[in-house]
Amino acid sequence: MRKREREITDPAEIRSILERCKILHLGLSDDGQPYVVPLNYGYTLDDAALTFYLHGATEGYKYEVIQKNPKVSFAMECDTIPFEGKAACQYGMSYRSLMGKGRAELVTDAIEKQAALSVLMKTQTGKDFTFNDKLVSIVNIIKISVDSYSAKKRPLPQTPATERE
Ligand SMILES: Cc1cc2nc3c(=O)[nH]c(=O)nc-3n(C[C@H](O)[C@H](O)[C@H](O)COP(=O)(O)OP(=O)(O)OC[C@H]3O[C@@H](n4cnc5c(N)ncnc54)[C@H](O)[C@@H]3O)c2cc1C
Repeated sequence: MRKREREITDPAEIRSILERCKILHLGLSDDGQPYVVPLNYGYTLDDAALTFYLHGATEGYKYEVIQKNPKVSFAMECDTIPFEGKAACQYGMSYRSLMGKGRAELVTDAIEKQAALSVLMKTQTGKDFTFNDKLVSIVNIIKISVDSYSAKKRPLPQTPATERE
């Protein structure tokens, strides 16, 4: 990361980003043609091991691409606040973000799919939900095993816009 001072390494803050973002932009590659699709997610973070669970209809382009190439990238952001400046280049946006790389696979085991949907709903709503075989049979679950990731924060400027040269 070029701006090292903006890197987040504190596990508690990384978890806080994962809790807040809610939407993951999944990057796939179809024979060299990038495809980015926004999806809601659930996550588990055990020590450094990060896993995402995504759900969707049982058909769609993203599955075709994953079958051909399971290598993925992802990005998410939260706490985005625009700020102003005197000059155009002083405008900007504060944020917290996380991005990385991993491998995607479709979960086929019904029990694992139920657990994945519970994780997803916990991340999205903070609530506990359970699922039965019938419910999981009508959705696909994508599991992303994350190989590497980084987190970053851009804080709001300390000085008011009127004082910045
Ligand atoms: C905030 C947000 C959260 C979402 N959460 C989920 C989720 O949790 N699960 C889920 O399955 N879907 C979710 N969606 C919808 C998702 O982005 C896709 O539209 C959907 O998953 C179908 O993707 P697919 O690759 O199977 O495309 P297909 O339905 O097979 O369609 C392929 C083509 O449709 C177009 N297309 C697909 N998606 C979009 C889109 N979002 N916007 C514009 N054009 C598009 C593209 O041209 C693409 O090449 C979410 C969308 C948003 C904006």
